[in-house]
Amino acid sequence: MVASPLAFTHTVTERFLRYVVIDTQSDPASATCPSTAKQKDLGALLARELREIGIVDAHLDAHGYVYATIPSNSEKKIPVICFCSHMDTSPDCSGAGVKPQIVRNYRGGDIVLPADRTQIIRVADHPALADQIGNDIVTTDGTTLLGADNKAGLAEIIDAAHFLVQNPQLKHGTIKILFTPDEEIGRGVDKVDLGKLSADFAYTIDGETAGHIEDETFSADGATITIEGVSTHPGFAKGKMEHAIKIAAAIIERLPKTTCSPETTEARQGFLHPIGISGELEQATLSLIVRDFTEAGLQEKEALLEQIIREVMKGFPRSSYRLEIKPQYRNMKEVIDRHPEIVDNAMEAIRRAGLEPVRSSIRGGTDGCRLSFMGLPCPNIFAGEHAFHSRLEWVSRQDMEKAVQTIVHLAMIWEERA
Ligand SMILES: [Zn+2]
Repeated sequence: MVASPLAFTHTVTERFLRYVVIDTQSDPASATCPSTAKQKDLGALLARELREIGIVDAHLDAHGYVYATIPSNSEKKIPVICFCSHMDTSPDCSGAGVKPQIVRNYRGGDIVLPADRTQIIRVADHPALADQIGNDIVTTDGTTLLGADNKAGLAEIIDAAHFLVQNPQLKHGTIKILFTPDEEIGRGVDKVDLGKLSADFAYTIDGETAGHIEDETFSADGATITIEGVSTHPGFAKGKMEHAIKIAAAIIERLPKTTCSPETTEARQGFLHPIGISGELEQATLSLIVRDFTEAGLQEKEALLEQIIREVMKGFPRSSYRLEIKPQYRNMKEVIDRHPEIVDNAMEAIRRAGLEPVRSSIRGGTDGCRLSFMGLPCPNIFAGEHAFHSRLEWVSRQDMEKAVQTIVHLAMIWEERA
C-alpha cells in the first residue's frame, strides 16, 4: 500500500460546517425543480466558492444544478471524469436550524446529543463508531438531521478541487463537478444536462463507510394486482359473493414470512414487499415492489407472486385478477462492468489514501444508477456519512479527509493510466 506523499490540507470540515447550517430539505409533494427554492441558497454559495478557488465557469442553473470544470493540465488524452453529490436533505427528518457539534478525539462509548438527551448514538446500534477512536466526530445537537448525506460529499469534492487547483504540478485530465438537487425524492437527475456536462464517467461521493465503493444497486420492478370479485347484497350472498378485499388479504397472508421480505433479508438477498392496498367488495388493488440484484432473481420472485395469486384464486372461481409488472430501475453493475477501469482506478485511489478498498452493493437505487443507464457510468464512493436521514447522523473529520484524498488521487490516476 502506498502511503499518501501529498501534503493535504485540513479544510474539509470547515467547508462542511458552512454547508450543513443551510436548510436544503427537498419536498416530494412539490412539482417544481428544485422542489424547494431554498436548495438554491446552498447552490449559489457552492458556485461562488468554486469561483473563488479559481474555477471560472462554476454556476448554478435555473433548475438548481451546479456545474463546474477544472481544465486539464496534461498533454495526454484522458477521459473526462465527473464528481457528483447532492445538495438536498431527506424529507424524513428536519434539516432546519442544524447546530453541529464536534466530539474531538473520540474515546469510545455512546454519544449523548446535548439538546435532546434522549437522542443517543449508541455503539451497540452504530458499530462503525468502533473504527473512529481518536477521530473528531461531527454530530447534531439532537434536534435535526446533520445533512452529512450528502453535504460531506459537497465539501469533499470542493476541497479536492481546491487542492488540485492549488497544486498544478499534480497532473489530471478535465474534471467536471456536478451538484444536484432533489436526490432524496428520486428526482436528482431529472433536469441534468448531460450534453453540457460532457463527461465520460462519473462518481457520486455519497457512500457510507470509509474505503467503500459501490458499483451495484438493486434491480427493481413494481407489481400491481387488480382483483375483480363478485358483489351481491350481503343478506343474499350465500354461495355467491366473492369478496375482493378478502382475496387481496389472502394473497398477502401467503407471502413468504421468514424469507423474501425487507425485514428478513440483507446483503445480496432480494424481496417482495407490499406497499399499498385499497379496495371494496367488488374490486381491490394491491401494489408491491420487487427487488433483487439479478434479472433472474426478479423473475423468480415475480413467478412466486403469480403462483401465490393463482392458488388463492382457486378458492374464488368466478373472480379474476390482472397482474402488471413495471420495470423501475436496473442494477447499474451491467453498465459499469463494461468499463472495468472505472472501479479499478477508484480502488487504487482508495489504497493511495491509505485505506483498504471494499467493493459493495447498495440495497436501493441511486442517482448514479439512473445516470449509468442514461449513458454516464457512475459508481458510488464513500463520503463517510453514517445514520443518515436521522437525528443521530454523524461523520468524522478524518473520514472526510480520506475522501478528499481519494478524489485527488483518482483524478491523478486517470491521467497516469491514460
Ligand atoms: Zn445521499
